[in-house]
Amino acid sequence: MSVLGVYGIEHVSSILYYGLHTMQHRGQEGCGMVCVDADGNMKRHRGIGLVSEVFKEQHISAMDGKIGIGHVLYTGADARGVDNLQPLYFHHGSGDFALAHNGNVVNSKVLTDILERKGSLFHSHSDAELLAHLIKKDDPDEPRIFSIIEALKQMEGAFAFLIMTKNRLYACRDKYGFHPLSIGKIDDGYVVSSETCAFDTIGAEFVRDIAPGEIVTIDKKGIRSSFYSDDCRCKMCAMEYIYFARPDSDIEGCNVHAYRKESGRRLFHEAPADADIVVGVPDSSLSAAQGYSEASGMPYEMGLIKNKYVGRTFIQPSQSLREKGVRMKLSPVRSIVNGKRVVLVDDSIVRGTTSRRIVGMLREAGATEVHVRIASPTMTHPCFYGVDTSTLEELMLARMNIEDACKAIGADSLAFLSYEATLKSASGRSDMCLACFDGKYPTPLYEHIEDVNK
Ligand code: SF4
Repeated sequence: MSVLGVYGIEHVSSILYYGLHTMQHRGQEGCGMVCVDADGNMKRHRGIGLVSEVFKEQHISAMDGKIGIGHVLYTGADARGVDNLQPLYFHHGSGDFALAHNGNVVNSKVLTDILERKGSLFHSHSDAELLAHLIKKDDPDEPRIFSIIEALKQMEGAFAFLIMTKNRLYACRDKYGFHPLSIGKIDDGYVVSSETCAFDTIGAEFVRDIAPGEIVTIDKKGIRSSFYSDDCRCKMCAMEYIYFARPDSDIEGCNVHAYRKESGRRLFHEAPADADIVVGVPDSSLSAAQGYSEASGMPYEMGLIKNKYVGRTFIQPSQSLREKGVRMKLSPVRSIVNGKRVVLVDDSIVRGTTSRRIVGMLREAGATEVHVRIASPTMTHPCFYGVDTSTLEELMLARMNIEDACKAIGADSLAFLSYEATLKSASGRSDMCLACFDGKYPTPLYEHIEDVNK
């Protein structure tokens, strides 16, 4: 998922359209935007599908204004369907507001149960709707920031929320800073984005990252900052660097391409392979493959071609769709791999589906050996923070050791990047969340604890 907010910039719907398009890799199930028009009315359009499918010219021109928020959706199995599309938009006596979020609140069931017992009714499974119930104001004269702070104090987990009123934008990041959220500037206006790659596309200049636990308020007075917690820590999701983010994004001062290239270099030093060429799995593993190639001296070759018009395998919502996705989206280049010993560099092994099919494809195209090198540690635990890595039962490396996994995917050898090198690749930072690799979850897990202890 990703969020994008704009304050004080003309043609807001066009800016949101291009910015959301840039972040399409973070979710392909649906998207939406809410904009405030010149009379202070909020207008929304959202739908299932890609940004280019959901938004036509008439939608963009019908929603012009200077303040707006947008969202692209990718979900787990329990939060699909039109009701969960964001931004959500609410009428309330204290003023209309719209919300969008990225991440996952791990105590949402506890909070929802409490609210339902008090009479709240929910339309969706979205954490944005939960926040909407928690920030409703009893006193219309009380500044909304107080109810936002009180609401966020009750929430545990990973979240980046954008809350928009007709004249103000609030951007909130959880106290662990699991997912990125950055501020950019265009002339006198501001944008807030889940990834900095959107800034280049829409012509914004990077200002700064929003800190863990920070709530940034943007209105006609400019930018103000407050914190909802005294206990803020940095637990940036390692998978943002490894898989999720675009290579041209910077996450907390570290460029994603530079991170992946360094992880590839370290992967070679930890797990060298005797082969003829290095091939990366497009797109997220190409930088790591380049790093592996540079460190090894073996040529980097484009042995796999991606059909760019098929969605990311990992994000497809069901196993059968994922399997079809792999077949449709990658093709081996026979003239490059035929008769060669190939080092295949990939970013991670989740269910093993993609690795098995790609190794098979390379062999069918004539590769004499396929040595798989993974630029992250073995993924042995599910994520509860908004990254749909899979359930414990589905994770290949939770069910079998590396030797058996190597046989299962049909490779000649298989090796993973160490935990230490994963950290060192991010300019030596030691403060990332690596829970899907080591099971050390930075937060209490509430009802999800059953999914770890199965
Ligand atoms: S558990 Fe894994 S995917 Fe989830 S936030 Fe932590 S590092 Fe990211």
